[in-house]
Amino acid sequence: MNKILLKNGHIFSPEDGIDEILDLLIVGEKIEKIGKNLKVEGAKEIDLSGLTVFPGFIDLHAHLREPGYEYKEDIESGSKAAVAGGFTTVLAMPNTSPPIDSPERVEYIVKRASQVGLARIYPIGAITKNRAGEDLADLRLMAEMGAVAFSDDGDWVRNSSVMRRALEYAQDFPIITHAEDKTLSPKGIMHESPLSYELGIKGIPRESEEIAVARDVLLARLTGGRLHVAHVSSKGSISIIEMAKEAGLRVTAEVTPHHLIFTEEVMRTYDPIYKVNPPLRSEEDRKALIEALRSGIIDCIATDHAPHATFEKELDLNQAPFGILELEVAFSSLYTKLVKEGELDLETLVAAMSTKPAQIFGFDGMGRIKEGFLADLSIWNLNEKWMVRKDSLHSKSSNTPFLGKELYAKIKYTIVGGKLIDVSNL
Ligand SMILES: [Zn+2]
Repeated sequence: MNKILLKNGHIFSPEDGIDEILDLLIVGEKIEKIGKNLKVEGAKEIDLSGLTVFPGFIDLHAHLREPGYEYKEDIESGSKAAVAGGFTTVLAMPNTSPPIDSPERVEYIVKRASQVGLARIYPIGAITKNRAGEDLADLRLMAEMGAVAFSDDGDWVRNSSVMRRALEYAQDFPIITHAEDKTLSPKGIMHESPLSYELGIKGIPRESEEIAVARDVLLARLTGGRLHVAHVSSKGSISIIEMAKEAGLRVTAEVTPHHLIFTEEVMRTYDPIYKVNPPLRSEEDRKALIEALRSGIIDCIATDHAPHATFEKELDLNQAPFGILELEVAFSSLYTKLVKEGELDLETLVAAMSTKPAQIFGFDGMGRIKEGFLADLSIWNLNEKWMVRKDSLHSKSSNTPFLGKELYAKIKYTIVGGKLIDVSNL
């Protein structure tokens, strides 16, 4: 069996209480032993002096665009971008063309991901047929074929009765809600605020999210179902999620890197690169999101990686699509902008990107650095700066505001189930 001995790495796994320089032995796909001065016959040794080892990151929310939009991204480029960002597991959203709303289409994603063989790519099935919000898709058969959650992401399931049945039928599988009542924000582009009026850009009020979160939480109460709130952006949503958790409901939530880093102020540039849904909100919201992550009201960070071609993002603000590239810059940007600036501690960040998503979605054997767990690891030089360049990104798209900027934290290796990926050779 394949044996890899990682020597002298700084192992950092908050959940396991490890924050020291140790050796780590991988046998087959699992972590066999963690300790000092390990010596193992026949193991491939890799010296990790100066490098930091985290549990592999798990992204509960990415748009890999295949099938249908392969000019933006596909499962191969998305898998490369994932491991180049330290992600060992990525959940693929079903708003493709055609959408992933049947067991056959779930099977297609599973098959494509295994052909590529880099990160673990888990499909999310659509909640409703054709994502139209009316007829429930066959959740049970999609789950049997490998779907790990269900979502009509991009759209809120407006029909309360359909959402009720989804929460009932999905049982232990999370229903991920894109909480947005679009009737309140038709053609909205940015956070509705004094600034949106000043700039003359159509607004999206916080309430378009909060109304949707409130209804979904009430339906989780009615059904006992498992609800996960995608990309929380507003302070008011946090209060509703906090109440749901205090009431013991099965509700969890995620926040994106961009909502933790940016505010509506960037819209002064009128640059569509910052056009995301939900929109970047006020500094007050951003601070509340960081605090909610720290306190655990928001469980984890998910990227909402949304690649778009340059010609699309170069359209004017009204026509350009919503979305920002994340997988390859998520950790480095959060580390540079929040951890190094003292706004967020590294323990919270790493747990929110690895341990917490594994726990809330029930991915056994993942998200920790522990003997017997899967050898899913991401290995970084936290002190090395790198320039985000179009030709160094593995994604097919480059719609990130960090293009041309330097970030701290350079990835070296990603290990997926004991398979070592040297990111410089990708
Ligand atoms: Zn969404």
